[in-house]
Amino acid sequence: MSLSHFNLATQLAERQQQQRFRQCKTHDSAQGSHLIREGRDYLNFSSNDYLGLANHPLVKQAFMKAAEKYGVGSGSAHLVCGHHREHQALEEELAAFTGREAAILFSTGYIANVGVINALVGRGDFVVEDRLNHASLLDGGLSSGASFSRYHHNDIADLTRRLAKSSSTKKLIVSDGVFSMDGDMALMPELVQVSQQQQAALMIDDAHGFGVLGKTGAGIGEHFGCSAEEIPIYMATFGKALGTFGAFISGSRELIDYLTNFARPYIYTTAMPPAIAAATRQSLTLLATEHWRRDYLQQLIQRFRQGVIEQGWQLMASQTAIQPILLGEESKALALSQALAERGFWVTAIRPPTVPVGQSRLRVTLTASHSEADIDCLLKALATLRADYV
Ligand SMILES: *Cc1c(COP(=O)(O)O)cnc(C)c1O
Repeated sequence: MSLSHFNLATQLAERQQQQRFRQCKTHDSAQGSHLIREGRDYLNFSSNDYLGLANHPLVKQAFMKAAEKYGVGSGSAHLVCGHHREHQALEEELAAFTGREAAILFSTGYIANVGVINALVGRGDFVVEDRLNHASLLDGGLSSGASFSRYHHNDIADLTRRLAKSSSTKKLIVSDGVFSMDGDMALMPELVQVSQQQQAALMIDDAHGFGVLGKTGAGIGEHFGCSAEEIPIYMATFGKALGTFGAFISGSRELIDYLTNFARPYIYTTAMPPAIAAATRQSLTLLATEHWRRDYLQQLIQRFRQGVIEQGWQLMASQTAIQPILLGEESKALALSQALAERGFWVTAIRPPTVPVGQSRLRVTLTASHSEADIDCLLKALATLRADYV
């Protein structure tokens, strides 16, 4: 049976016409400040490897040693025979590092979010999310069967109104810690206060804050001085600052036991390879013991922001490694991305449906593997292009 009545071609043509068609671009290098593609070298400003750990010699060594000993595949889901000593050790270290009783690993952040929200709320319950939350959180809320509502970005009054209207006994507030396409942070003290006043549980996805924010790198809670009790459901991923792959939730022993028994994407997914867990343990040790990467990244952020603002580009209100330059039209964002690529810079354009219509942007990300000279090179290139865009 052919797929012709699914209208795939029509929908693809429409995407093309809207300048929203997307395609993977293959590259040949390790993650780092440079990227090699089709034999050409680019300065890379699109990676989420914020601390430059994805290609760190010790992380690679931990991975290879564990692969040598334990092989590649984990063999099954955690609850069957896939839960290795390396997974167990990583969970215990994450619980301790985030100041919570226990932690549970998920094979990706996407399934962690869908899994947790679906396990905690369902029909008759209420889940309310920031409009700009990551797609996996929104998908989790939508698929849960709970009554689902989205509040205006960081608008605590709107959130309070929506919570007050709900008569459900189980209410869940869900927010990104750092918003992935804007780079700004959730208003944590206010969220904590509302969750207590309205007796709603609070879940924070700290994919872009874990490892980067806070004195020890423990993330958004540490940055704002919020306690583990104030953020009872803490989620973060390994694919960003830790430079590996996978995700975790940390919280009370009871919460983690509950997820082990009720989070279907946990129960029915193959465990991440033990060597990934071993590499992640090494990353965690590096980020906890070597503060300089966070401090240095902050310096780069300030240097970049100052330069871009002086040139008159529209930056977003972000103090994190995500520094988007707002352009508006899809075509404008694409053209600037293309012009930078011609000059040897890799900076991806972000377009709808990932961001709202009229808010296409270049999502510049800075990492501890960049040098100050790398930042200055990008600033110089932007200066030569600004006349056409600002
Ligand atoms: C990247 C990301 C995820 C998804 O994590 P993966 O491990 O890549 O599936 C979830 N939430 C946020 C905010 C993210 O940025």
